[in-house]
Amino acid sequence: MSIIFEADVLLKHPNKRALKHYSTQEIKPPRSFSKLLASVRKITVEVAAVHAADVDHQARFPEETMAALRKALVLSAAVPTHLGGAGCTLLELAQLCSTLAQGCGSSAMVLAMHFIQVGCIARHGQDDDFFKDYLRDLVKHQYLLGSMTSEVGTYGDTRSSICSVERTDDRFILNKDATTGSYCGFADGILVTTRRDHDAAANDQVLVLVRREDCTLKQTTSWDTLGMRGTCSPGFRLESAGSIKQIIPGPYADSSARTMVPFSHILWASLWWGISADAVSKAANFVRGQARDKPGTMPPTATRLAEVSMQLDTMKNNWQSAAQAFDSIAPDATSQDQFASMAWALRMNNLKISCSEAAPQIVHRALQIVGIMGYKNDSPLSLGRQYRDALSGSLMISNDRVAAKSASMLLVYKDVA
Ligand SMILES: Cc1cc2nc3c(=O)[nH]c(=O)nc-3n(C[C@H](O)[C@H](O)[C@H](O)COP(=O)(O)OP(=O)(O)OC[C@H]3O[C@@H](n4cnc5c(N)ncnc54)[C@H](O)[C@@H]3O)c2cc1C
Repeated sequence: MSIIFEADVLLKHPNKRALKHYSTQEIKPPRSFSKLLASVRKITVEVAAVHAADVDHQARFPEETMAALRKALVLSAAVPTHLGGAGCTLLELAQLCSTLAQGCGSSAMVLAMHFIQVGCIARHGQDDDFFKDYLRDLVKHQYLLGSMTSEVGTYGDTRSSICSVERTDDRFILNKDATTGSYCGFADGILVTTRRDHDAAANDQVLVLVRREDCTLKQTTSWDTLGMRGTCSPGFRLESAGSIKQIIPGPYADSSARTMVPFSHILWASLWWGISADAVSKAANFVRGQARDKPGTMPPTATRLAEVSMQLDTMKNNWQSAAQAFDSIAPDATSQDQFASMAWALRMNNLKISCSEAAPQIVHRALQIVGIMGYKNDSPLSLGRQYRDALSGSLMISNDRVAAKSASMLLVYKDVA
């Protein structure tokens, strides 16, 4: 991707006010995916890439990029059209994330995590009046949603909780100690996993929408990490209350298998690909520069470029085919049961592990092509941020944990193909 520095008015006046909610009264939602994609491409080049180094350096929230995404109504891309959103498919959402990742990995991760939460509400609260109204409001105000699945004491196992939601009449109280809460300090709402009630088993969970105005967040740890620094993901102590209508209908076991896991693994894979594509693009520029310097000769790095571009293509085919498979499954209950199958769970686990392993390998290979100019932090061909960002993939739900789940399934699963 060629980066064009054409800062617009928004860039010249980045301020916290830009994060305030946009009313859509004067802006018509872009219904077509091509318009949304064009907006995200422009934001990637003109905003995200421009601020990425500073976001990374200061480990600060990418506020300019999020303000631009809000203004372009990208935050409601996953909301169904009948509720005012763009009704994007998972493949389309993945394309938006992979595009943004080519400018700023942290911004793309924020967008992906937001889409995952909106997907959970849209797919599991679709028949519920409260959640339908909430999604209409999300379109209007371009709410940003975060997630709290991690918890002190559950060691990265998203399918178990210690905290529980306490219900009294039509109100709930929910308190949780989260080890990691990306951009929770900047979100308008947080989807929180919790045990169904005080007596429920650790894996008998529900998903609760906590509104920012209904909670207090006390930061408990820091976020001075190698990469993904702009996601601003320290630990938080959450204390919240609200209406029991804010509890997403059905068990979290369902929303996890049918939506949170496939959305997470496919959208994460797409943005890890975007980070890798950004690195390969820099490597390609470097090789072309070498070719121009010595016309008529093949630079020795050209073969390495051909090899890494093959790995990049394989990675893309992997997440795109998974997204197409997800989108092809009909919405009726019987078809949706496929998401509970071992075949689907293994496919998701394989996608997660293979793409999170491929991303740092690809950036590493790009670095071998670019050499010292990629190693320097202050060079236009620097690959430091991409390298550090890509390293987060295997930890974001530990690959060992995912592989252990696959291993136990493979003891009994027989592939009929
Ligand atoms: C950029 C980023 C953003 C994040 N954002 C959020 C967020 O918004 N909300 C949120 O809730 N969480 C978030 N997380 C947390 C994340 O999803 C994981 O829950 C967390 O990273 C797991 O932490 P852990 O490595 O300490 O835990 P664990 O998964 O327990 O891993 C600890 C160690 O145990 C090993 N291990 C674990 N299980 C097994 C096994 N079965 N076999 C062998 N070894 C095993 C692992 O390899 C690892 O070395 C984020 C993480 C990252 C990196």
